[in-house]
Amino acid sequence: MPHRKGARSGSIVVHGGRLLTLRGPGGPRRGAQLRDLGIIDRGWLLIEHGRISRVESGDAPAEIIEHPAIDVVDAAGCVVMPTFVDCHTHACWAGDRLGEFEQRCHGASYLEILRGGGGILSTVRAVRAATDDELAFGLLRRIAAMMTLGTGTIEVKSGYGLDQDTELRMLRIIHSVSQVAPAIVMGTFLGAHAIDPEDPAFIERTIAETLPAVAQEFPGITCDAYCETGAWSVEDCTRLFEAARDLGCPLRVHADQFNALGMTRVAVEMGAVSVDHLEATPPEQLRQLAESSTFGVMLPVCGFHLDGRYPPGRAFVDMGGALALATNINPGSAPSPSMPFVIALACRRLGLSVAEAITLTTWNPAALLGIESEVGSIEPGKRADLQVLDSRDERELAFEISGPGPAIVILRGEVVTARAVEREVEGEDEDDDEDDEDEDDDGDEDDDRDNGRGPGSPG
Ligand SMILES: [Zn+2]
Repeated sequence: MPHRKGARSGSIVVHGGRLLTLRGPGGPRRGAQLRDLGIIDRGWLLIEHGRISRVESGDAPAEIIEHPAIDVVDAAGCVVMPTFVDCHTHACWAGDRLGEFEQRCHGASYLEILRGGGGILSTVRAVRAATDDELAFGLLRRIAAMMTLGTGTIEVKSGYGLDQDTELRMLRIIHSVSQVAPAIVMGTFLGAHAIDPEDPAFIERTIAETLPAVAQEFPGITCDAYCETGAWSVEDCTRLFEAARDLGCPLRVHADQFNALGMTRVAVEMGAVSVDHLEATPPEQLRQLAESSTFGVMLPVCGFHLDGRYPPGRAFVDMGGALALATNINPGSAPSPSMPFVIALACRRLGLSVAEAITLTTWNPAALLGIESEVGSIEPGKRADLQVLDSRDERELAFEISGPGPAIVILRGEVVTARAVEREVEGEDEDDDEDDEDEDDDGDEDDDRDNGRGPGSPG
């Protein structure tokens, strides 16, 4: 993709692109709104000081294209769209569960492995044994992979510490990584991810000690829980959430992944931000969720990786629900950093259209995280987080399975990844030089990748 570097003013013009602006009504988009991508069939945009300053149709004026201080990206008719917002991940972990994967290949179920002390608890042991650096490098390495695939905002849950010290340690690492990553990284407290078998008073301690300590150090942090048979019950989640609400923490919950315990109804009644999973939600609770202001979050990689069960995306959208899609990247049930793969599954297994899936991976998750004034669309004033696909048709995003990611990813107004593509104009020697420069600009991330291969890193 032709990309000419200017004199380091920090300004970039992206021209000749098919712009999916995602401009439209504020708040979560529902029903038919999901299919309107705010398309400018041939347009251009200008980035100044890390923000989008102009978005217009037609050709960019010559005085901008030829301005010596402005970097130029010729999209060559390809799709230009916001970066993805991955609103549900467990991207901070240590160790691996490859042995369990092999067990599952021979027929063991996820819940059987969990009952045998594996699953989440095996990652808990690995995280407790890992150093801060090992955890930070592992997270940075995964964030780098996600950025390469077009993701610009990443929510990251704790939950592999369980005890107060390790939960706080995880949240501090997620916070410190958020200070250096080009992507937006937002931490969520998931101390109620499992039941710690080493602590008979674990539930009481989480509610009475860990939660208040976390809320004191991270005021207003979102509180999440895993409500499932063998994990947190509806009653215990309710007590945790009452305490979290009193501390000013918004609520999210994993519910109905395997068993419908009634948590979706309770979460809606408690005004939770979202109920995530929904594979086993009964129709009447799905409708109650759809008619509320609580988001549903669907995580189709779980169905692909575990058992072929998918949440009812089509039905939920047709009920008018506020939906978002996410990778749920974690070392057990969803080992994928790829939002394009989520879109590919959403179209094949959740009954959603490509346009719907794009809104559900950009604007709606931004609204869920409360940052839709910053990201999730291409509009003047917003953070310049966008990607240029290696395709002139956005349906390629859903059609292609396990592709290499977009041609160019721009975060906060800087090119963070630029993949050489076939449309590269021959004879523009400077392009090659520019690509090298981009990699140099990105030195932190490259260092992290190198360090992530060090001792204790996954695999
Ligand atoms: Zn999860």
